[in-house]
Amino acid sequence: MTKKNEKRSGEEIKPGKKLEVDLGECILCDICVDLCPQVFKKNDADYIELIECDTYPEEDLNDVIKSCRGSCIEWVEEA
Ligand code: SF4
Repeated sequence: MTKKNEKRSGEEIKPGKKLEVDLGECILCDICVDLCPQVFKKNDADYIELIECDTYPEEDLNDVIKSCRGSCIEWVEEA
């Protein structure tokens, strides 16, 4: 049986956490979409939108968070 937060092939479930993008700080540089298109996409209005995932590619997301030009991506605790 797989434990909830056990690492599996580069992915880790993040119970109680979700990603957020502060669109007010986003400069639409597209780095997040280029580096991690399974989590980030541009919507019809050309704003960054998150694709809801049960698991997240942890290493890719750490790279995206470090590379984000607007420093506007972070993990937040779910209420
Ligand atoms: S990497 Fe950051 S600043 Fe660039 S588009 Fe994505 S959220 Fe916006």
